[in-house]
Amino acid sequence: MDQELRELYQQVILDHNKSPRNFRKMEDATAKADGHNPLCGDTIHVYLKVEDDIIKDVSFEGKGCAISKASASIMTSMLKGKTVKEAEELFEKFHKLVTGKLGDNPDLSGLGKLAVFAGVQEFPVRVKCASLAWHTMDTALHQKGETISTE
Ligand code: ZN
Repeated sequence: MDQELRELYQQVILDHNKSPRNFRKMEDATAKADGHNPLCGDTIHVYLKVEDDIIKDVSFEGKGCAISKASASIMTSMLKGKTVKEAEELFEKFHKLVTGKLGDNPDLSGLGKLAVFAGVQEFPVRVKCASLAWHTMDTALHQKGETISTE
């Protein structure tokens, strides 16, 4: 990872860890799922409100390392307003980025702030932290339509 991206990475992680976006429980979620990364101890709950195939709202709760929290925070800020298909495509591209499958000179278009996670591919444990929120979101999306208990 070049120096510029490394500094940006630090900045983005610190910022989102300190003030995570959409960090709240959603009472009227249409889908939700829990995720757990035993390697690091991260746990996350992702809430989605999907209407007419569009993600109207998305939020999360949980505790974990700075990377898992920042990744979840950035994810929620990027998914609002996207279609389910767009969200899945973004997840796929992000997953390829963090697992190094986009190659040495990855095309980062459309990834926005997620591009800073390019460096985690060097650290397999961190890949799990960075992708936890996304896997959890994906699980929630595939349960959409089910009645969710708000406890
Ligand atoms: Zn972690």
